[in-house]
Amino acid sequence: MQEYKNIILVSHCLLNELAVVKNDPGRKDSLNLIKNLMKMNVGIFQLPCPENRMYGSNRWGSVYEQFDNNFYRQTSRDLLNPIVNEIEDYIKDGVNFLGVIGIDGSPSCGIGLTCKSNEFKGEISAIKDFASCVESIEMTDDNGVFMEELEKLFNDKNISAKFYGYNDRNQNEIIEKIEESIKNK
Ligand code: SF4
Repeated sequence: MQEYKNIILVSHCLLNELAVVKNDPGRKDSLNLIKNLMKMNVGIFQLPCPENRMYGSNRWGSVYEQFDNNFYRQTSRDLLNPIVNEIEDYIKDGVNFLGVIGIDGSPSCGIGLTCKSNEFKGEISAIKDFASCVESIEMTDDNGVFMEELEKLFNDKNISAKFYGYNDRNQNEIIEKIEESIKNK
């Protein structure tokens, strides 16, 4: 029986690609990251997918501004509150909380990279120039709405949490940083 002394939260779609918006290329190389976490004896705690919970698997891709409203934020907090409580209990029990791995570019789970636009909204069939509407989307160095709410909940409880944004190119960097955190504990 393994003795788990470390725990990390991961965005839902790192383990379940079915949650990703249709036609999104998905997380092509997350298996390597997950295998390495398991080798390091890290308990992997899967967050719920807020977009799938609220809008289902046939939703359109969205931008930050579409989720930046009180309902989405409150529902995110409702989903996250019991998880933050559970993490607090693990910490009290001596477990090393390693932080959170989110998804680069997501309007919900982005960490330091999210997609934004003030024009990407409304009735699609009424948009005359849809291409320029799509082109209005830009990547900014902000967090997604779900991660913003998660950070606030950790702050409320004085839990310090490191946040990592996954993309298919930076997994070795994330693995090295997590190894470092385990060594320095
Ligand atoms: S909302 Fe988060 S968990 Fe859901 S598909 Fe997007 S990045 Fe993945």
